[in-house]
Amino acid sequence: MTRNSVLTKQQAEILQQLLGKDFEEFSPLSNHTTAHVGGPADAVCIVNNSSELEQVCSQLWQWQTPFRVLGKGSNVLVADAGLQEVIVINRSKIIRFDESADPITVYAESGVNFGGLARQAAIHGLSGLEWANSVPGSVGGGVYGNAGAHGSDMAQTLTLAEILHPVKGKMRFTTADMQYAYRSSVFKRDREAVVILNATFRLEKSTRAAVEERMASFSEHRRQTQPPGASLGSMFKNPSGDYAGRLIEAAGLKGTKIGGAEISNIHANFFLNDEQATAGDIYRLIQLAKTTVKEKFNRDLELEVELLGDWAAPSHSNTEN
Ligand SMILES: Cc1cc2nc3c(=O)[nH]c(=O)nc-3n(C[C@H](O)[C@H](O)[C@H](O)COP(=O)(O)OP(=O)(O)OC[C@H]3O[C@@H](n4cnc5c(N)ncnc54)[C@H](O)[C@@H]3O)c2cc1C
Repeated sequence: MTRNSVLTKQQAEILQQLLGKDFEEFSPLSNHTTAHVGGPADAVCIVNNSSELEQVCSQLWQWQTPFRVLGKGSNVLVADAGLQEVIVINRSKIIRFDESADPITVYAESGVNFGGLARQAAIHGLSGLEWANSVPGSVGGGVYGNAGAHGSDMAQTLTLAEILHPVKGKMRFTTADMQYAYRSSVFKRDREAVVILNATFRLEKSTRAAVEERMASFSEHRRQTQPPGASLGSMFKNPSGDYAGRLIEAAGLKGTKIGGAEISNIHANFFLNDEQATAGDIYRLIQLAKTTVKEKFNRDLELEVELLGDWAAPSHSNTEN
């Protein structure tokens, strides 16, 4: 152990008693991110249902302990030095369809895998979430960041989200309350300390075959245009009137490697980890892409992913080419 924890010994014992093996101190976040990078959090609490999520977060607020909820870690780049906070990994998983409601809805706890939810809707012959089939995040992460694909997004699909607020308790947010913009919400912009507990989505009656056919065509498009491997998906937002991937490619950066990180040869807005990369390698590729695109085309690239931790001096790798 190299640093003091944000948790006292007594607090750690309370969480350990509550969560058993799902509580771990100084646990590497590379195990909980799709890019497979990131140093240790002071503690990781894995919660398996909504009541554990509420209980742990309320307790941490009461202790005034800094914490953050992560779903699948597919939209965050965690620094190699790790995070001096508690990370709550949300694995709540209840899904409930209401086919007698008008409109038909599905309720999902925020830890539900978004793609899995889309596939469940397909099995029920319900349309509306096909676009989410290949989004590898959680419902909570999608609600937070206004996930979207194939011409749709959260703003067009969500009807309600239930939020836990440190002072106001449980609150219901409509789509309008979320103030969605391109890959952004009021929570993401204001960095507000709230926990998304669950969300309800609007669906339409269709047939299983029709919904699955639509999902298959979206998946095929992805297979042809996006690379497999450990990544964070799209690194930058598309600037107005253009595509981040096109600009990075036109800047001649496809295939550029720093350490174990590489700008994909298939899609230049995807930065891949060959499983040896550090978060620092990826961070330096980000800086390279931003400065080169600015120099060559005078366009500013804005990150779609969130940088978590201290980026003043990211660790250096040995190999650059
Ligand atoms: C291969 C690949 C393809 C992708 N394709 C797409 C795509 O097509 N469209 C798209 O929009 N995105 C895409 N992404 C990005 C990512 O999957 C989405 O942004 C997703 O919605 C993030 O969900 P998550 O659970 O991984 O969030 P995380 O990365 O775990 O968290 C992201 C942010 O949300 C916050 N958060 C998460 N859960 C909660 C909660 N319950 N309460 C409060 N805050 C919370 C976190 O604190 C963090 O600030 C892709 C990523 C990859 C790796």
